[in-house]
Amino acid sequence: MRLEALDKAHLWHPFTQMQGWQATRPLIIERAEGCYLYDLEGRRYLDGVSSLWVTTHGHRTPELDAAIRHQLDKVAHTTLLGLTHPPAIELAARLVQLAPSGLTRVFYSDSGSTAVEVAIKMAFQYWRQRSDPRPRKTKFIHLRESYHGDTVGAVSVGGIALFHDLYRPLLFETLTVPEPHCYRCPLKLERPGCGMACAEELGRILSEHADEIAAVIIEPVMMGAAGMLAQPDGYVRRVRELCTAYDVLLICDEVATGFGRTGWMFACEAEGVAPDLLCVAKGLTGGYLPLAATLTTEAIYAAFLGEAGEFKTFFHGHTYTGNPLACAVALANLDLFEQNRTLDHVRTVANHLALRLEELRTLPLVGDIRQRGLMVGIELVADRAARTPFPPDQLMGYRVTNRCRDYGVILRPLGNVVVLMPPLAISTAQIDELADVLKT
Ligand code: PLP
Repeated sequence: MRLEALDKAHLWHPFTQMQGWQATRPLIIERAEGCYLYDLEGRRYLDGVSSLWVTTHGHRTPELDAAIRHQLDKVAHTTLLGLTHPPAIELAARLVQLAPSGLTRVFYSDSGSTAVEVAIKMAFQYWRQRSDPRPRKTKFIHLRESYHGDTVGAVSVGGIALFHDLYRPLLFETLTVPEPHCYRCPLKLERPGCGMACAEELGRILSEHADEIAAVIIEPVMMGAAGMLAQPDGYVRRVRELCTAYDVLLICDEVATGFGRTGWMFACEAEGVAPDLLCVAKGLTGGYLPLAATLTTEAIYAAFLGEAGEFKTFFHGHTYTGNPLACAVALANLDLFEQNRTLDHVRTVANHLALRLEELRTLPLVGDIRQRGLMVGIELVADRAARTPFPPDQLMGYRVTNRCRDYGVILRPLGNVVVLMPPLAISTAQIDELADVLKT
């Protein structure tokens, strides 16, 4: 078929072993509606991963389509370098209104990775430029198994060996702490007796190194690409307390968890935490267009104010930063969160999903099920009692998700973890459809 041949001849797919791709029959998605994707032959698939974790109200939501059309009649793109425009202004004000308290400034970029790059550069520059400079504070602490994106700065603060180790010679050095992963505790401890030793390890490192640490970066409540690792209650709160106590900035990467995914607008709200820098992307435009933002505080913003010749400017910004079409659809997306009471809906369907997931717990392949709202990881194991993982070369995650595709559900695994990230608008009937296929 022509399209398949052209794809194989020219298109290099992200995070994809292209030799294997050449041997497959690629699924070509032509259109979508609500929670479903349709291929060229008209076959329908439930979008179980929200087209890489982005779709909120569904595909082809009339209000979102209309917002883009309406903006197209005005201007498709104009720059934020030296100019400004209504959708970027309105959206910045709206994000500040929604974000945890104290985050009053919004810096746009185009992807989750760049939102993280911005946070890293901002934190670094802040310590050098504030009225009481601390230029030694240049280092970053991150969780060992973290994923914060694929650009060089974001990879530096990441830890998944498969994605990061090869690039180490390109990266800046960081300090790492064990991730809170109770099913496979890196400290070989157990809850609740462990006293959350993983967080206290952060405290120990801060007590020794705080004067050289610019910031700690975490993905709050649930680490997504790390394998859907759900954090114990109180973890994010403890990290916030430690950062405050040791005068270190806290960056919360809510690229995956933001915009209702966990049942809260932002996951850190579940722990009553406000970070110093908040990175958002994915769900911001409802899954329509690339747009990201890094929100920060007045104190950090103030460190970048100076006379023209002082060069305290934040030297960062991409050509399409704050694109008007993307900002317009983001505003319409946020309107729908209110109109559709999306957070209430997510909590309701997430409870239903939790009930359905209980049925999977006894399956011989299922080791652990981790859920926060509509963000779920099902860890497949070779031996349940011993929690023995399947060897990576068995590609067990892919074997399961490929089967699901045959039954009309699109899923994408992370190693041995089957990820469920359906659109926030998913109905209970569609959750049943998803769960029934998983059980099959
Ligand atoms: N941060 C987190 C927590 C993510 O899950 C991702 C992507 O999955 C990123 C950053 C990178 O986002 P992007 O792929 O839009 O660059």
